Amino acid sequence: MRQKKALVCGAGGFIGSHLAKRLKKEGYWVRGVDLKNPQYSETAADSFVLGDLRNPRVWEEILDTEFDEAYQLAADMGGAGYIFTGDNDAQVMHNSAMINLHMADFGVKKQVGKIFYSSSACIYPEYNQSDPRNPNCAESTAYPAAPDSEYGWEKLFSERLYLAFWRNRGLDVRIARFHNIFGPEGAWTGGREKAPAALCRKIAEQQDGGEIEIWGDGQQTRSFLYIDECLEGIRRLMECTTFRGPVNIGSNEMVTIDQMVAMVMEVAGKAIRVKHVEGPTGVRGRNSDNRLIRLKLGWAPDKPLKAGIAKTYAWIEAQVNAKKLSLAAVGD
Ligand code: NAD
Repeated sequence: MRQKKALVCGAGGFIGSHLAKRLKKEGYWVRGVDLKNPQYSETAADSFVLGDLRNPRVWEEILDTEFDEAYQLAADMGGAGYIFTGDNDAQVMHNSAMINLHMADFGVKKQVGKIFYSSSACIYPEYNQSDPRNPNCAESTAYPAAPDSEYGWEKLFSERLYLAFWRNRGLDVRIARFHNIFGPEGAWTGGREKAPAALCRKIAEQQDGGEIEIWGDGQQTRSFLYIDECLEGIRRLMECTTFRGPVNIGSNEMVTIDQMVAMVMEVAGKAIRVKHVEGPTGVRGRNSDNRLIRLKLGWAPDKPLKAGIAKTYAWIEAQVNAKKLSLAAVGD
């Protein structure tokens, strides 16, 4: 059988670098593209192009061969400290929209077989996420639209862009809305890290009995999905011939941030005091509604959060310790 070819845009990032590994394991020939190489391990891709996807010439270069599939994961994004403060709104909207406009256009011109687009739970209206115990993130509730960030508005625009290209130009698209994906080899420091990685880092850096700061009152709710289950969802959606989404890919094990902190402490074997401080927190409550994915794909994520936290904590603790050692060596 002919080897399938896949393009992974954003292959230097967290999900993209894991996806390249997964596609290689499945026997694909993979080309990755990103502004940067993966930070924590070598890329698994057969070909890796360092390039700026806002630039049409880069698209000409990377689509010099026929691709069966493209996975569009490149975006200007980060954790709450990056996307909810408002300071980066213009660049987030401009950069990510440029990438998606080119993907859709070149996808048609270069006849890419199928395109996967990574949207986000951040598209859901703020008005359905104000009760932390009962958020509503069913796919059908996206409209009337009222995302709480420009990042969410750009994702919604791009969902519509890809669907318009499907209707008018025959582009075969699949769209998923990810809900807080986490795992090893994700950003864990520097300001773009998300809650699970930030909490693991803060706790790994503290001695037993120490204190950490948490943004907000700790009662805001979220669900978190381990990377392996995210990849499984992506691949199942891509293989599905009867449904293109948008569909949630997330966990429905909802926890408060305080519960999540307690879980990380348990995994770490440390008792740490928590000080709640002012900070950007996003919506009050969010959980993945998994009824549609179960109905359409006959599958939904079901692994316990704690299992993913254990693997992620171990990796982040190793990074924290390695950093301490290198700082100590510099001080010698
Ligand atoms: P990430 O930031 O680790 O990866 C995104 C990658 O895109 C980065 O490596 C970045 O360098 C690259 N990129 C940005 N601008 C680029 C450009 N102009 N040209 C080339 N590359 C560029 O993020 P991630 O967590 O791997 O997320 C992947 C996708 O999934 C993103 O589209 C994100 O919005 C979406 N998503 C992620 C989550 C999550 O919890 N991780 C949740 C919802 C949606």
